[in-house]
Amino acid sequence: MEIKIIEKELKGTRPDDSLLGFGTLFTDHMFNMDYSPEKGWHDPRIEPFHDIPLSPATMTLHYGQAIFEGLKAYKTADGQIQLFRARDNFKRFNRSAKGLCIPELDVDFAMESLKRLLKLESHWIPGTPGTSLYIRPTIIATDPFLGVRASHTYRYFIILSPVGAYYAEGFNPVKILISTDHVRAVRGGVGEYKTAGNYAASLYASEKAKEQGYAQVLWLDGVERKYIEEVGAMNIFFVIGDELITPSLNGSILPGITRDSVIQLGKKWHMKVTERKLAVDEVVAASQDGSLKEVFGSGTAAVISPVKEIRYGDRIMQIGDGTPGETAVKFNNAITDIQYGRAEDTKNWIEKV
Ligand SMILES: *Cc1c(COP(=O)(O)O)cnc(C)c1O
Repeated sequence: MEIKIIEKELKGTRPDDSLLGFGTLFTDHMFNMDYSPEKGWHDPRIEPFHDIPLSPATMTLHYGQAIFEGLKAYKTADGQIQLFRARDNFKRFNRSAKGLCIPELDVDFAMESLKRLLKLESHWIPGTPGTSLYIRPTIIATDPFLGVRASHTYRYFIILSPVGAYYAEGFNPVKILISTDHVRAVRGGVGEYKTAGNYAASLYASEKAKEQGYAQVLWLDGVERKYIEEVGAMNIFFVIGDELITPSLNGSILPGITRDSVIQLGKKWHMKVTERKLAVDEVVAASQDGSLKEVFGSGTAAVISPVKEIRYGDRIMQIGDGTPGETAVKFNNAITDIQYGRAEDTKNWIEKV
């Protein structure tokens, strides 16, 4: 398929790297493509960033049939632009699509169109360590129709946002709250897909956590409310004794690409990495007997996010001395070194643009 390119005449300028926040500023252009049952995915085009006019009856607005991805483009010291495991993002996008009855994309074409967009927007990619260009591929259901069924038509778009640190705290440890009243997802549901409704469902508990000074919610399983699942937009790791533990993918956890990268690197470094069920009681016990060494989240936005405090009911568990733990630092350095081209990419995770 031929990608049509309509360039904007007056291009914007990127602010100073030190002023970049997260998700507030968008580049000059976006990628758009439409789906209809007759034509399949068609009319791929790069156009000036613009609002999308939608009928108030548009299905995505009512029934939440929407999926997205989140990945980043990085600029290396010598000015190269590179992507980290981007194909894995599009494969996960297709798994989410399938789960939400949305037609899948051709991964090779998705990669090609992303690269075309990035080449056009290369001046929007910041180069200071810690900054990057956040990439948000999204698909929404576009039939103007009231009634619950899968839409027949869809819009796929990609928007780009130059970003600094995800958390105001930067790499500094955050405090998280275990929700005892609310759950994010259950097995058999859509927790393992990046679909809009999962985030809507998490807001109430997240806002309550924020009011109490906690950056995010740590979710327990939706059935027994006994086992650790993940954080709002991150997977979670615990160092207990000499074991690096993360909850196994049970159908209600989002299969993070950063999570998988941590597991692969940990194994390469001969750490004892285990994916298993982890009861919150085990974490409490480890906190009491001193074997809970570190806790950190993993996700594209913040890469590794050390956790310094977990609240569970009335119990407050302090982790470490409030500074980032050595395991968190090691993974953060290793992953960001590969992303920014400072270390050799022995796992073939990098795709140059
Ligand atoms: C995106 C996301 C993650 C992290 O996935 P990455 O591929 O590592 O960015 C974890 N949990 C949830 C709920 C997410 O939406």
